[in-house]
Amino acid sequence: MNNGSMASLVYTTEQCIGCNKCVNACPAMGACMSVEGETNEDRTIHVNAEYCVSCGACIDACKHGARKFNDDTDSFFEDLKKGEKISLLVAPAFLANYPKEYGSVLGGLKNWE
Ligand code: SF4
Ligand code: SF4
Repeated sequence: MNNGSMASLVYTTEQCIGCNKCVNACPAMGACMSVEGETNEDRTIHVNAEYCVSCGACIDACKHGARKFNDDTDSFFEDLKKGEKISLLVAPAFLANYPKEYGSVLGGLKNWE
């Protein structure tokens, strides 16, 4: 289920109870949008793909299993194999967590066959 106007990697499921924890965890303004149900109790929080940066913070924050993501790992490697042009957004924490492996991982992806 996704009420955003474009496809979103992260989405909200039927488990959402509208507790707002994802809103508080989200770094991207406007990425979590309130969707009214038939009553106030039906209010849920959906992902607005236009603003979502797919950081995953809401998945960690949600204690109701209501945030999931579409795993596109296979299609990523298929595109890489086909030689498609791919841009990577790498979290700064990657360098901090893998200071020795950082270069070889990115170099390995670049030379993937
Ligand atoms: S944290 Fe989970 S249950 Fe709470 S509003 Fe967000 S998606 Fe819904
Ligand atoms: S993935 Fe990140 S940017 Fe997108 S809705 Fe969740 S917390 Fe916000």
